[in-house]
Amino acid sequence: MKLDHTLHKTLLQLANAVRTQDANAVPKTTPEQEAVEKAVAELSRNRDAASAAQMAVDDMENEILRIQSDERKLRRRKKDSQDALGAETDEDRRRDLNHDVYTAKSRIADLMSELQEAHNEIHALRNNRDLAQSRVKDTERKVEEARAAVEQAQSAAPTVEDPAVVIARLEEQLPADVVAEFQAQRLENGVGAALFNGRSCGGCAMVLPASGISEIRNTPKDEVPQCPECGSYLITDIS
Ligand SMILES: [Zn+2]
Repeated sequence: MKLDHTLHKTLLQLANAVRTQDANAVPKTTPEQEAVEKAVAELSRNRDAASAAQMAVDDMENEILRIQSDERKLRRRKKDSQDALGAETDEDRRRDLNHDVYTAKSRIADLMSELQEAHNEIHALRNNRDLAQSRVKDTERKVEEARAAVEQAQSAAPTVEDPAVVIARLEEQLPADVVAEFQAQRLENGVGAALFNGRSCGGCAMVLPASGISEIRNTPKDEVPQCPECGSYLITDIS
């Protein structure tokens, strides 16, 4: 392939830029971004746990309100029965009322022990909820710190020129037929053009036989030799 020797280096730069673009095609996740994703997932789990813990507290609080309301009703019933007893003379009615008072008393005693149990439980449930909420706060902080680390890493990273812009500029500097031949060769072997270090091809990494090396050396300076192994255009002079 004919190419003015002053442009050989440009062809190699083009090959390198294309390779860089390929390598960056799949955006790599930085460790900082991974840390953010992990912290966000942890936050979501901790928020779920905190909301479940809050729900358990709410349920138990409702249970306590129910017990207290039942207790009030029973105490009223007991008082009504006792009041009625004071005025009642009929033996059957007195027996029924005494029974009512007894039942109410025993039911109130049951409720009191239920209430005691519920108070013990709600204490544990509230501790659990507070712990879950403090975990959420810790993880929120962790997410914030991780996000700050990503921003810092991004601002610290050197600004790299978009490879597409670099490629377009280099292609403009080269004759169109050279660009076309380079692209065709690149499609064929995935390299296109590479540096020849005097012994081996930068495209296929093969150490070339002496005959191949001398052929490359004897190529006129305004032509670009090809690797006898992989076909890559070889740039011999990058000065
Ligand atoms: Zn090669």
